[in-house]
Amino acid sequence: MSRQALDELKQQIPLLDYLQAQDWQPARYLSRGRLLGLCPLHVDHKPSFLVDPLKSLFYCYGCGRGGDVIRFAELYHQVKFPQALALLHQWHGLAPLLHQAASFYRIQLHRRGEAVAYLRQRGVRSPELIEHMQIGYAPGGCLRSWLTRLGYPLHALRQAGLVTAAGYDAFIHRIVFPLEGNLYGRSISTSAPPHRFLPGAKGGLYLWQQVRHCPEVILVEGLFDYAVLWQAGFHNVTCSMGNHLNAHQYRQLCDGPRTIYLALDADANGSGQQATQSLACRLTEQGMNVRRVSLPDGLDPNSFFVEDGDARQFQLLLEAAQ
Ligand SMILES: [Zn+2]
Repeated sequence: MSRQALDELKQQIPLLDYLQAQDWQPARYLSRGRLLGLCPLHVDHKPSFLVDPLKSLFYCYGCGRGGDVIRFAELYHQVKFPQALALLHQWHGLAPLLHQAASFYRIQLHRRGEAVAYLRQRGVRSPELIEHMQIGYAPGGCLRSWLTRLGYPLHALRQAGLVTAAGYDAFIHRIVFPLEGNLYGRSISTSAPPHRFLPGAKGGLYLWQQVRHCPEVILVEGLFDYAVLWQAGFHNVTCSMGNHLNAHQYRQLCDGPRTIYLALDADANGSGQQATQSLACRLTEQGMNVRRVSLPDGLDPNSFFVEDGDARQFQLLLEAAQ
């Protein structure tokens, strides 16, 4: 890549935009437009990460690392220079496309009885919740033509994973939730694998920006767990989308002092309990106050509410958490 092409890429992706898309927020505003916040490259407890948006450069007084947006992507995703370039290019082109796809799926949701019926069955009823999570539905067989009409070339749809190599919509009969840089699709039919993401990282903790200032945060592993808790009034909830946290999600969870209620699934084979146990230890080592929520046998937060559990009963479980 030529010097000029690199400069163009850096101009297209201001460092601050990229940082904010990764959930970074300034804690202090300094002179000449500079910002100071927690360092996203390690677990940081006092703001040491300096950003100069005018020059699109960063420097961390904690770990001593600094540079431009490409250097940041290298360190943040722990990849080499060429992969960092590829990630930045992809991020730059992907965001508008995913936004279009998610908007299309949202329109479909209300036209499809089977989708609304599935949501009811999973305890999702409130229009405010559907709006808050921007829930959509992929009927299959119509996204490709819609996006093509909007001018997106087929290769871009394939590259994003929205369309298969054979040219069909990748998400069929799935409830769709937009994530940071990805989409999650939950199959409503039992014949397909239940969980599906587009290729690429699943992103950070779900809507972390909205809960990171809460002194107490409830962590669940599924978006339908998140949905019923939010609907029941527990707005201090976030979701890891699986019982394994990636490095980015882990750093987010430890980015300030808080109490974390772990409400992960208890699987019959014990793998869920093991995951909860090891996560609880690691978080405690980082100085977090961790409590494990015990749900009645065989239930996850979603089925707890679907089986007539209510907010008061869940509150009692939180209070009893060890
Ligand atoms: Zn640092």
